[in-house]
Amino acid sequence: MTRRILIAGNWKMNTRSADAASLAKGIVDAVGKSPAVEIALCPPSVYLASVSEVTAGTPVELGAQNLYAADDGAFTGEVNAAMLTDVGCQFVILGHSERRQLMGETDACVSKKLHAALAGNLIPIVCVGETLEQRETNETEAVIESQIRGSLEGLDEARAAGIVIAYEPVWAIGTGKVASKEQAEAVHAFIRDLLGKMFTPGVAEQIRIQYGGSVKPGNAAELLSQPNIDGALVGGASLKVEDFVGIITAAPAS
Ligand code: PEP
Repeated sequence: MTRRILIAGNWKMNTRSADAASLAKGIVDAVGKSPAVEIALCPPSVYLASVSEVTAGTPVELGAQNLYAADDGAFTGEVNAAMLTDVGCQFVILGHSERRQLMGETDACVSKKLHAALAGNLIPIVCVGETLEQRETNETEAVIESQIRGSLEGLDEARAAGIVIAYEPVWAIGTGKVASKEQAEAVHAFIRDLLGKMFTPGVAEQIRIQYGGSVKPGNAAELLSQPNIDGALVGGASLKVEDFVGIITAAPAS
């Protein structure tokens, strides 16, 4: 089974309108018409529409960094799945560790968002990952299992195959500390095995599992060549055309 590599750039709360547009344009121009991998840009929500104008008609796709799990209504400050697809999004990042830590998002909250994303025809990128303390006390697998079971609560087999999981060890995000290829592959293999138990092994084989945490052009090739690593969710290095494109070109064709 071949899973297409997905390289997604999480711009977090960075850029202004002019640099969002020029960053997107630089990436679109550099990757050309038929890149070997799937690529998505996830700018801040206020710049989704303008980045969408740059990516429209190109192979570069668009993703949001969050959504609110409700239809239109009195939810001041929030944005729902219908609004995201309206501005051209195909993806939405859910349960990023920064949202879990800073905004108190729980697995139950991520699960609600997951169902809203799927109902709204968005591909959810569900983030999970352990802290350094949890890794050092050998809790990594228990933490990942509980996050995945909780975040995917109520998901049926038919829809499960289309989701994306991002394994992002919290200790590797924005720190410059990258998981070794062996550490990352071990957790990815654990996740795939868990997904096989939750759904079926066949469904688990179809689910893409990205790695995230200080991915750079220099470490991308070895991470992305692991059998269970199907892409990267990239923070810091997605803010520079050269670095992001360096990661894309380091990925084995899929
Ligand atoms: C992220 O925010 O999802 C991330 C992985 O960040 P960085 O690449 O900067 O570690």
